[in-house]
Amino acid sequence: MNAPAPEALRRGWCPSALKPMETGDGWLVRLHPPGAVLTPAQLIRIAGLAAHYGNGLVEISARGNLQIRGVALSTHPELVATLLAERLVEEHGGDGPQRLTLVAPFVRFPSHRPHPEEARSAVSKDVPARSGASFETRTASAPQDEGSCCEPRIDAPALAEVIEIRGRTIPGLPAKCLVIIDDGGPLSLDGFACDLRVVAVASGTVAIGLPDGRWLGPVATARAPEQVAVLLTAFATHHRDNPDAIRRLRDLPPTLLDEMILATGLSQTTPPAARPAPRRAGRFVTAQGEAALIGLPFGRCDAGTLHRLGEAALRAAVADIALSPWRGLAFSGPAPAATEPLLAFAKRLGLIVEPDDPRLSIEACAGKPACLRAQSDAMADAAALAEAAAPLLATGASIHVSACIKSCARMAASDLTLVGREGGYDVIVAGTTRGEPIAKLDLPAILARLRPGQDLFTRVSERGTSGPSG
Ligand code: SF4
Repeated sequence: MNAPAPEALRRGWCPSALKPMETGDGWLVRLHPPGAVLTPAQLIRIAGLAAHYGNGLVEISARGNLQIRGVALSTHPELVATLLAERLVEEHGGDGPQRLTLVAPFVRFPSHRPHPEEARSAVSKDVPARSGASFETRTASAPQDEGSCCEPRIDAPALAEVIEIRGRTIPGLPAKCLVIIDDGGPLSLDGFACDLRVVAVASGTVAIGLPDGRWLGPVATARAPEQVAVLLTAFATHHRDNPDAIRRLRDLPPTLLDEMILATGLSQTTPPAARPAPRRAGRFVTAQGEAALIGLPFGRCDAGTLHRLGEAALRAAVADIALSPWRGLAFSGPAPAATEPLLAFAKRLGLIVEPDDPRLSIEACAGKPACLRAQSDAMADAAALAEAAAPLLATGASIHVSACIKSCARMAASDLTLVGREGGYDVIVAGTTRGEPIAKLDLPAILARLRPGQDLFTRVSERGTSGPSG
């Protein structure tokens, strides 16, 4: 297989299994497993393929996709043939998104992705969440009930499946287009940037959020896919007309957004009620049984670690493994007595199993040497920040380390954003990589000024202008 044509590599394209992306450490192959769910055996198989065909590094992207790094172009066709033959990935033709929707993990019961007809039927009946109503969470060490304030209210995977199918019929949708489907449960996806946000506001009813903060609805889940399609079709048309200026839905001027809203026939509604920040690691107990959310530090681990984790999941009788947007893996259905040993094993592997792990509050891109554009070793610097800035992160602050302005790891604002430039970092408080820097500092200076009592610590801890970390 040859490298993708230059026109395929224009700004805004996304890598996939068939379209690898050249990076500083070889070609990056992004996998989209069917329904973003794997079995333990499939996870072990992917770890083996990453070791055999890649450089052994595996990542989970900010949108919950698996990535194999360091693949050689000469063996890429063989890798793709294996991935497709073993149904480890699904690929759609065209330049649109390989996966348009994002849902929270642990709402995928029964364990396999819904068949399209099953999904349509579930959505058309406006059924309440297949995942069940009760959803309590607790840490590995300290059981804790989050209460019933925010139970899942819709079948988010079924709705996502129908929107995926409908989205594939819309020509010209940008590859990065993202629709978040949030079931209104405890794993809120509020911290993730997207083009459209579909959030359950009552059983079988959703509101549709636009990037400018307006909300439309309420809409029955059965009607939601068509309303989303109306909005996305108009967006795709404007993108086609002006691809450089309108790449995301947030780029549309208010007058065009007004026209789109008018076309849906929907009224504006109040935003969904705020929910507590989600717990991003640890032990969970759902209506269907045990579950565990395990994070990869900064979204990355080596193939050997992934292989051992897959074997531990097999031993724990895990039913399925969902890819978590918090750059981790969500293990559903381990035997009750096996959850704690699974978490303990993952901790010994250096993975994240506690919700207050400071590494969960730092997003970092691949950086040097993995990325050709990188101006810093973002992951190594993030590890140093996780240690030195632990007191700041314990206050709920979020940090984003981006080795260049492109911002691959996080689109949304963070409390502190560091953008690699000429051996140092542009320092941005409460903004994105494109925000106004307050200073350019090297890493030792940043670490020193993030200590309690120092100016950067005070400034970031008094932020209050950015949303919850995601
Ligand atoms: S943000 Fe820049 S340096 Fe980091 S992975 Fe993306 S392109 Fe590379």
